[in-house]
This record gives sequence, structure tokens and C-alpha cells, in this order.
Amino acid sequence: MDAELTTQVDDLASLIRQASRAVAFTGAGLSTECGIPDFRSPGGLWTRNKPIPFDAFLASREVRSEAWRRKFAMDATFSAAVPGRGHRALAGMVRSGRLAGIITQNIDNLHQDSGVPDGQLIELHGNGTYAHCLDCRQRYDLDWVRGRFHAAGGQAPDCEACLGPVKAATISFGQAMPEEEMRQAVRWTLSSDLFLAIGSSLVVYPAAGLPASARQNGARLVIINGEETPLDAMADLVIRADIGTVLEAAGDRLAASGLS
Ligand code: NAD
Ligand code: ZN
Repeated sequence: MDAELTTQVDDLASLIRQASRAVAFTGAGLSTECGIPDFRSPGGLWTRNKPIPFDAFLASREVRSEAWRRKFAMDATFSAAVPGRGHRALAGMVRSGRLAGIITQNIDNLHQDSGVPDGQLIELHGNGTYAHCLDCRQRYDLDWVRGRFHAAGGQAPDCEACLGPVKAATISFGQAMPEEEMRQAVRWTLSSDLFLAIGSSLVVYPAAGLPASARQNGARLVIINGEETPLDAMADLVIRADIGTVLEAAGDRLAASGLS
């Protein structure tokens, strides 16, 4: 780690130490070290297929079947992933009380897998490790969907209870944000005095509006991301470096300084 990055990590650890209510906001860049491609980087799984908008999913079984085909193709990557250095460092900060909570755009369940309790985690874009009926909310395991899909020759299954469409429990483009999660995320954002935006290109709204609201409300804003974001100019600290390296080092500094 070069001298400039060392100084930035020291600054990050000090800001976290001084904060009375720090909140982290995480995006796909946190999980690339776990082998899950992010959305926009070249070579990402999503650059090969344009995302399927929500209305198209609802409108035709053919599109739903295509959505499930893609989901199963990506699922090996998702289910093999385990929390990385970044997830572990953030979970450690939650455990030690340094971090009040984590708001995530990720759908990979890796914050939960790293031990962050449900009450300290908000998933804004849902969770890709299970499915549900869009009409009656009945929950389905991916294995159940996969079994039905293959038995029907590659056709998307319907809900057993109400015949509604069954979809991965994630939020698609064009689908409404989950209301309660969004309200709670706004509450956490406005009650934070330090907001850490980590691994997000900060271009997907409304989620990307949270860091800006935190800053406007008087919180310190830190942006940790490998590339520039539209909010860099308003941040108190911008660390443009590898996320796992930065968070692990910051976690080590905090652990070394104890709770004083
Ligand atoms: P994004 O793809 O728009 O941005 C990710 C950012 O992280 C990029 O700017 C990239 O340069 C940076 N990055 C990647 N690896 C990094 C590393 N090791 N160190 C530093 N920077 C790194 O992601 P987003 O803004 O979170 O939006 C994508 C949306 O797609 C999300 O809202 C999410 O719902 C979904 N998604 C989720 C996952 C997941 O759950 N892991 C993965 C891909 C996409
Ligand atoms: Zn149903």
C-alpha cells in the first residue's frame, strides 16, 4: 500500500472512530473480489445481456423463461461465492458497534453470510437466493423453480397457490422499490453522521440519492470505489482503490485501537 493510500485509510479509520452513527451503503463493487461480476465493468455478465425490464417479465411467459434461463446460468457463480475481505471487515465493524447498519444494493446474501444480523441490514434491491410469487408473495426455493423449469422443457413455472408469476426476489429495472426498505434506508441515512458509499457507481436512482441526502443533511460522506462517481465532488474523503484492501486495512486499524 503506497503512502497516499495509507494516509487515506488512516483518515477513514479516524472518521469511523469519531462517528456516533456510521452507516455503510454497498454496491456490486464490494462483491467482485468474491467472483461475482459487477453490473457495468467490461466483461460483467450483464454486459452480454441487456437487463429484462419488469413489464416485459410480466407480459410474457417466453420472457419469464428467458429470465430464469439466465438466472440459472449465473447461479453457479452466485452460490459458490463466500464473503470477501470487505464483507468481513464491515461485519466486524457492525459487531464492535462502529457501524450502526448496512444498506445494500446487492442481492447476493453475502452480508448475511458474513454475520450481519437482519436488523442491521437493509436490502434495497431484494435477494437473489430465493424466489417468490409476485401476486401472493408465496416463497419458493430456487431448486423448486429449477425442477419445474426443467420438467416443463425450459418454461417458467407459475405459483402453485394462485398461478401468479414466480420471480427471483430481486428488484428489476422498472419495478417499484420496496417501500418499507426504502423508508427505513432514508431514516438511517438522515440519522447518520458518517455515510460510507462503497463499491457503487452511484448512478442507479433512487438508491444513489441516499449518499447525497446524507451529505446535505450534514453527515460526513466517504466514497470508496475503483472509479470516479458523480458524487465525488461532494465527498469529504474519496478513496479510489481496491475495496477489499481498503476495508481490511481500516478494520485492522480500528481493531488495534480498541473501543477508546
Ligand atoms: P455498479 O456495477 O454500477 O458499480 C460497481 C462499481 O464498483 C464500479 O464503479 C466499479 O468500478 C467498482 N468496483 C468493482 N470492483 C471493485 C473493487 N474491487 N475495488 C474498487 N472498486 C470496484 O454497481 P451498483 O452501483 O451497485 O449497481 C448495480 C446494480 O446491479 C445493483 O443495484 C445491484 O442490485 C445489481 N447487482 C448486484 C450484484 C451483487 O449482488 N453482487 C452484482 C451485480 C449487480
Ligand atoms: Zn401466488
